Amino acid sequence: MNAIEVTKLSKTYPGGVAAVKGIDFAVAAGEVFGLLGPNGAGKSTTVGMLTTTIEPSSGSARLAGFDVAEEPLDARRVSSVVFQDPVVDRSLTGRRNLEIHARLWGVEPREAEGWIPELAATFGLADLVDRPAGTYSGGQRRRLEIARALVSHPRVLFLDEPTVGLDPRIRAELLEVIAGLRSRSELTVLLTTHYLEEAERLCDRVAIIHAGRIVALDTPAALLAGLGRQLVELRVDGSVSSALAALRDRGVAGEDAFAVGSRVTVPLHGHSSSEAIAAIHDLGLAGAISAREPTLDDVYLRLTGDSLAAAA
Ligand code: ADP
Repeated sequence: MNAIEVTKLSKTYPGGVAAVKGIDFAVAAGEVFGLLGPNGAGKSTTVGMLTTTIEPSSGSARLAGFDVAEEPLDARRVSSVVFQDPVVDRSLTGRRNLEIHARLWGVEPREAEGWIPELAATFGLADLVDRPAGTYSGGQRRRLEIARALVSHPRVLFLDEPTVGLDPRIRAELLEVIAGLRSRSELTVLLTTHYLEEAERLCDRVAIIHAGRIVALDTPAALLAGLGRQLVELRVDGSVSSALAALRDRGVAGEDAFAVGSRVTVPLHGHSSSEAIAAIHDLGLAGAISAREPTLDDVYLRLTGDSLAAAA
């Protein structure tokens, strides 16, 4: 059975904003799955529907077999969420926060007694667990948030933009923690992000979301492989479409070359970059030219005409 199964799921908010427009995906047990897209793409709305806080307009979603609309209590029992905004009580110790959460979720007190120190140790909080959470650093508090979410032994963990707003060092540290969750093979993780490297680094598969629709869904490697190993990027002064046509005539660019504004991106698919650059100079298309490996941003750009980085 899939841990998450989403079928034709849609949400139109009162007032008419169609935030999610009929998406389908399934996540296998133990998989780390990413929803990647810029702000406003519909990621939080999707997580809201999966965590039963937002009512779907149509379609359905199941967590470990439980329908989020028809069996919301069961769906909530098997899942847990780490929100963007912290929920731990800063005046209480880390341990107390975890204990209260365990009680709320009906974890047997005797079981919690063993489990809480184990979780604290796993998240590098063993030495801090008896201090008020308000004294923790930003990264320590996020780790406590994740530990809190795992107290109830969820089968599915939702992480909504887990590293947004963190400084780079804390982000890197938290990414380690999240990567470490993968080794708990029984746990399925769905995370949302607008950071490409986060999606590439952590996720088995990624759904790229644009304006409420899934525009691509695959492993990061397969998404990137579609663009080949290298591409050349150039800025064109004159007509972009005639530049693209000239590059195609010359055999430098294939059908998957694309332009956004004055920037033309040419996947090389085995052509050497020096040949391609020489041909571009020959054609008098100059401007700034560079060769590099493709990123998920290129995948996104080609599919949507928008830059993920710029849109974020
Ligand atoms: P993301 O998480 O990818 O940034 P969201 O799911 O938050 O995207 O938002 C998707 C779209 O839905 C946006 O256009 C947003 O403005 C709109 N939206 C989100 N929440 C509400 C709401 N409560 N009422 C009306 N529109 C909303």
